[in-house]
Amino acid sequence: MSYVINNQGHCVTCDSHVTFYSESDWLRDGYFCNNCHSIPRERALMYCIEKFYPNWKQLHIHESSPAKRGASLKLQKMCQNYVGTHYFPNFPLGQTHSTGWRNEDLENLTFGNETFDLMITQDVMEHIFNPARAFSEIARTLKKGGAHIFTVPIVNKEKPSKINAKKDEHGNVLILGTPEYHGNPVDNQGSLVTMYWGYNICDFILKHSGLYTTIVYIDNLFLGIRAEYIEVLISRKL
Ligand SMILES: [Zn+2]
Repeated sequence: MSYVINNQGHCVTCDSHVTFYSESDWLRDGYFCNNCHSIPRERALMYCIEKFYPNWKQLHIHESSPAKRGASLKLQKMCQNYVGTHYFPNFPLGQTHSTGWRNEDLENLTFGNETFDLMITQDVMEHIFNPARAFSEIARTLKKGGAHIFTVPIVNKEKPSKINAKKDEHGNVLILGTPEYHGNPVDNQGSLVTMYWGYNICDFILKHSGLYTTIVYIDNLFLGIRAEYIEVLISRKL
């Protein structure tokens, strides 16, 4: 097997000197850490948490739809006040599901106002049917000075964000563009892509939640961070 990239470096999600390698041109899903198997966007997210919120281990963190590796595992292991949630439709919100995860719908969180210092989502916000409502709920549950730190593929780049799927007034799913699904750790059918975001996601977030967003772009082979759609967004509650 030949490698597109194969280099030594430091992995911020497993805190080790490692080899990063990819057998695929699509580094976003194929450029792995040989030790923890994390991918670039997970390392970029963890790098931003460490850099901008170095006291994160002491903070109250909510992560929606955590992964089974990378930044999610590190946060879960090392932050005492970490709450991970997944969304299980047809199960009571706020209750613990048989999988052990608390059930939360990002559009209707059961947490009180100003509960968390940090909210984390990784490639979740492109799957929300009502993102205006979700960003508003995230802002509501953040403390002042808190932030939503997240990755989301900004596939439309300089073009405006575009709705790909929504629900009508009866709750039926309407796919306006192309049916596209991404992997979901708790649903084998995967998650439908509802939004093709552009950089004007920052305006959308401000309008619907009042949070101010900075986009962080990192390209650093030593940290194993190189890929298309590698941006990390940090939306702050002032
Ligand atoms: Zn690693």
